[in-house]
Amino acid sequence: MQTIQHWIDGSYANPDPASRLGEVTNPATGKVSSRVALASSAVVNQAVQAAAAAFPAWRDTSLARRVQILFTFRELLNDRKGELAAIITAEHGKVLDDALGEVSRGLEVVEFACGIPHLLKGGYTENASTKVDVHSLRQPVGPAAIISPFNFPAMVPMWFFPVAIAAGNTVVLKPSEKDPTAANWLAELWKEAGLPDGVFNVVHGDKESVDALLEHPEITSVSFVGSTPIARYVYERGTASGKRVQALGGAKNHMLVLPDADLDLAADAAVNAGYGSAGERCMAISAVVAVESVADELVAKIAERTAKLRVGDGMRGTDMGPLVTAAHRDKVAGYITAGEDAGAELVLDGRTVEPDAEGDGFFLAPTLFDRVTPEMSIYTDEIFGPVLSVVRVPGYDEGLALINENPYGNGTAIFTNDGGAARRFENEVQVGMVGINVPIPVPMAYYSFGGWKNSLFGDSHAHGSEGVHFFTRGKVVTTRWLDPSHGGINLGFPQNA
Ligand code: NAD
Repeated sequence: MQTIQHWIDGSYANPDPASRLGEVTNPATGKVSSRVALASSAVVNQAVQAAAAAFPAWRDTSLARRVQILFTFRELLNDRKGELAAIITAEHGKVLDDALGEVSRGLEVVEFACGIPHLLKGGYTENASTKVDVHSLRQPVGPAAIISPFNFPAMVPMWFFPVAIAAGNTVVLKPSEKDPTAANWLAELWKEAGLPDGVFNVVHGDKESVDALLEHPEITSVSFVGSTPIARYVYERGTASGKRVQALGGAKNHMLVLPDADLDLAADAAVNAGYGSAGERCMAISAVVAVESVADELVAKIAERTAKLRVGDGMRGTDMGPLVTAAHRDKVAGYITAGEDAGAELVLDGRTVEPDAEGDGFFLAPTLFDRVTPEMSIYTDEIFGPVLSVVRVPGYDEGLALINENPYGNGTAIFTNDGGAARRFENEVQVGMVGINVPIPVPMAYYSFGGWKNSLFGDSHAHGSEGVHFFTRGKVVTTRWLDPSHGGINLGFPQNA
C-alpha cells in the first residue's frame, strides 16, 4: 500500500521506517486507500529550513518573474482541475461536482494573486517637508506556515498560499492528515509551473507537526483553519512565540426567513446550504430560523425537497456523499439521537440510509429537525454533518437576537423581499459574512473571508486586501538628497516647513 510522503525542497522525502503513519480512507467505500507519514519535529525542521533557505532568493525574484510563474500555475490548475477534484472526492467523500466547485473557488484566489504587482504598490509623497520625500513599501514576512482542515483540502490552502507566494514568502503547508493527497498534487503542479525548490513545502502530520511549526523560530506567520478549540490554541501558542497568526475556527450558521420571503427560494437555499458536502462546510447552514407564521409551510417545502436527495458515492452522480470518517458519522448520528431525546421534532431521520455505493461507507441521509430550542445540543454544537435544525421565532427581533447571542459568527443569511429589513439585518447582525437571499455568502477572492467571535482569532481575514496585508509588512522611507541648502545643527524634532 502506498505511503504518502512529505514534499520538501522540491521532491518527496525518503521513506523513514521509524515514522509514525496514519491511515487515509475512501469514505464512500470505507476502505483504507493509503497510509500517510506523520511528521516528527525533525521532519518539520527540515521543511522549515528548506523554506528559510529559499526565502532570500524568492523575495528578491522580480515581480514580473513571480507573476509569470503564478500565471503558469493558474493555467495548469485550470486545465487539470478534474484530476484534483477526483482526488478530493476519493479522500474526502464530497460529490465530484462539489469538489470541482471547491477547486474553482481556490483558482479564483490564484487569479487574484496574479495581480500582486498592483496590490503591492506603495504610496509616495513628494516634498512632505521641504525637499523631503516619503514613500511606503510592503515586503514579505518570511516562511509562512499554513495548517488546514479536512473539509476543503484544496480550497482552504489556496485561500493563503497564492497570496503568500506572490508576495515573496515561502510556505510550509500542513494539510489535514485525513485527506493529504491534494496538497502533494498541488506541490507537484508548482514545480511544473517553475516555482523554485523550497518555496512551497508540504509536511503531513497531526498535533506533533503543528506544535513544531508553532514553535519554530524561522516560521514568521501562521494561517490556520479548523475547529474553534484548536484555532484558539494555535492563536495563543503562535502569538506567544512571536508570530503573526490568523486562526479561523468553527461555525454555526443561521438563516433567518421572514414572512415575506419567497419560500420556494428559501427552501431550495436551506437544502443546498444545509446538506451540500454532507454539511461538512464551515459556511453550511445548520439552523433555519423561521418566523412562526410561515414555519409550517417552510418546513414542509424543505422536507419535500430533502426527501428526494440521492445519497451515495460522490463519483456516481449522487447529490450527497458520505461523512469523512466512521467516527464522525457515529458522532453525528449521536446528535440525532440527542435531539430526539431532547424533544425536538424529527421530521426526517437520516440514520436509516440506503446509499448508492459499494462497500461499507460512512453514510447518513439528510436529517431535518423542527421545533428545536436554543438549549438543545443539536443547536448549541457545531455538528458538521447533514443535520438541519429549524428554530421558530415570533419575528425579526427575536431571530436577530438568537443569531447575535450565538458564540460563533462566521456566516449568516436573511431571506426576505423587504429591502428595509435586509438593510437593518446587514447593519445589526454580529457576523462576518452576510447573505441577503444568498445562503452561503462566501466572499469573492478580492474581498476577504473570515468570521467574527469564536469563528476567527486574530484580526486578519483570508485573501483579498487583508491577505496581502497579512503576508507583508510595511516600511516607510523618508528621503532627502544632499542639497547645498541643508546642514546646520538642530537637536529638536524638525518642524514641518
Ligand atoms: P481540526 O481542528 O480537527 O483540524 C484542523 C487542523 O488542525 C488539521 O490540520 C489537524 O491536523 C490539526 N489539529 C487537529 N488537532 C490538533 C491539536 N490537538 N493540536 C494541533 N493541531 C491539531 O478541524 P477539522 O475537523 O479538520 O475541520 C473541521 C473544522 O474546521 C470545523 O470546525 C469547521 O467549521 C472548521 N472550518 C472553518 C473554516 C472557516 O473558514 N472558519 C473553514 C473550514 C473549516
